[in-house]
Amino acid sequence: MTGRLSIVGLGPGGPAHRTRAAEEAVRNAEVVVGYHSYLAQCNDLTGEHQTLVPGGMGAEQQRADDAVAAAADGFRVALVSSGDAGVYGMASLALAAVAALPSGERPAVQVVPGVTAATAAAALLGAPLARDFACLTLSDLLAPWEAVEARLRALAATDLALALYNPRSSGRPWQLGRACELLREHRCGDTPVGLVTDAGRDGERVTVSTLDDVDVGEAGMRTVVVIGCCATTRLQDWLVTAREVTP
Ligand code: SAH
Repeated sequence: MTGRLSIVGLGPGGPAHRTRAAEEAVRNAEVVVGYHSYLAQCNDLTGEHQTLVPGGMGAEQQRADDAVAAAADGFRVALVSSGDAGVYGMASLALAAVAALPSGERPAVQVVPGVTAATAAAALLGAPLARDFACLTLSDLLAPWEAVEARLRALAATDLALALYNPRSSGRPWQLGRACELLREHRCGDTPVGLVTDAGRDGERVTVSTLDDVDVGEAGMRTVVVIGCCATTRLQDWLVTAREVTP
């Protein structure tokens, strides 16, 4: 008996930003596993014929293990994440759990991509990620802050636009301010900064500011922060990064 595990990115918010493949994977699943707000995000696709397995914040390994165990037992399972499941999401945990099984017990696996917060936010801001850019999480729950800071310093010195995930929460109130200080050592004070909270969801909020003026208190755990590069300017209400000029 071989089940199937679909590791599904639901996109940033509502159905408008979900792929059809993601919807099919959730609809066709017998078991849907996810953090409770991600299950809520796809409750228009689930019904009483399915088993929903909610999990708490932080219990990611447990959710991945539950999903893999159910798929190994022969069920069609969808493990849902917001955004893209491979970007600070559940995909790597789940794939490692599948790989750890004896080969005869491994379920079939598919990873279904989703619109990640960086591109959802960029679209609301205009086109700030039009050149090379980097994503970085400011969370120091899985890596020590020294490692985060070392990456930030290295990136600050490049001319990459940045999308900062997990910028701030009540338990991690100072990291975004520190990140802006480090960036300011290399980038001009008028470098554009976009704060996008709840992209694609109720309460969506977009603020444009600069490295010197940004109010980091406006960011929370559902905010992604976009930092411009040297080619990013404000055009009307947009943040626009000019494309590279090819000689
Ligand atoms: N897998 C997700 C990221 C999970 S990490 C993805 O691909 O988008 C959680 C962080 O993602 C949050 O702290 C926030 O920085 C960002 N994020 C996720 N959804 C968001 C949304 N709808 N609007 C703004 N930021 C979001």
